[in-house]
Amino acid sequence: MSAIAAVDTALWDLKAKAAGMPLYQLLGGACRTGVRVYGHANGQTVEETIAEARRYREMGYTAIRLQSGVPGLASTYGVSRDKMFYEPADGALPSENVWSTPKYLASAPNLFAAARAALGWDVDLLHDTHHRLTPIEAARLGKDLEPYRLFWLEDTVAADNPASFRLIRQHTTTPLAVGEVFNSIWDCKQLIEEQLIDYIRSTVVHAGGISHLRRIATLADLYNVKTGCHGATDLSPVCMAAALHFNLSIPNFGLQEYMRHTAETDAVFPHSYTFDAGFLHPGNEPGLGVDIDETLAARYPYQRAYLPVNRLEDGTMANW
Ligand SMILES: [Mg+2]
Repeated sequence: MSAIAAVDTALWDLKAKAAGMPLYQLLGGACRTGVRVYGHANGQTVEETIAEARRYREMGYTAIRLQSGVPGLASTYGVSRDKMFYEPADGALPSENVWSTPKYLASAPNLFAAARAALGWDVDLLHDTHHRLTPIEAARLGKDLEPYRLFWLEDTVAADNPASFRLIRQHTTTPLAVGEVFNSIWDCKQLIEEQLIDYIRSTVVHAGGISHLRRIATLADLYNVKTGCHGATDLSPVCMAAALHFNLSIPNFGLQEYMRHTAETDAVFPHSYTFDAGFLHPGNEPGLGVDIDETLAARYPYQRAYLPVNRLEDGTMANW
């Protein structure tokens, strides 16, 4: 589906260029003036994470994902040394993380209690558990986080079994998001039709391109599910631009993830999209509004990098 997505996205780019209009106009026009995005604040401690969140607010963000180190664990998902350009694929061979669900479940609510006390209520907060919980653990976390009114709780459980979301849904009013690894409308059909989630996180690049993602969004709209496209740094500026034109043109847009690319990456992909006061706009150049400087790209040869592997404290291999 990623191969299909590449061809599909290129064809939409070409057609919009031939039509002499930005892609969102070809898709039906703008449903809103901009695309609201969220950034990632993370730190080893609660205090460090809140200080990062303040930095994002100063940059203009109105929605922020918070991830903090877990006391008693040396490292965890979503917490990195490089704050602004987080890339979890960190080595030529996989590094090893140690995970403890009990330690995590004991600490996560403290992060959000402290965050609300420090940041107030005039900011949307999000959190990602990276598919590490069982349904009953996810249900408990959702309940524990209810007082802090999260915008969404993401990837609570592995979504291979959509029915497991029924149990989470029965227990908590915390909004649920999932789908960044989904490849087609069939991966999310049951979750959407049974209204087991609030945000579908499928992306242009993983789910067959703009054409297929529009089908997912149309299905989701029938059931009050909004979009929340994945936007990690390994998704290029081409993917980001495609997401922005898509987001601007659909009625049930929710929120867009925006992890910034480095200056080197931005230079390889000159683009017309811009950030202002918590919103991205794709700009008004014909097509996607992104180019690829192939000469500059040739200066950056492929480097092998792996995501970490995860073990429980007793050495058991676990889902990272
Ligand atoms: Mg996620």
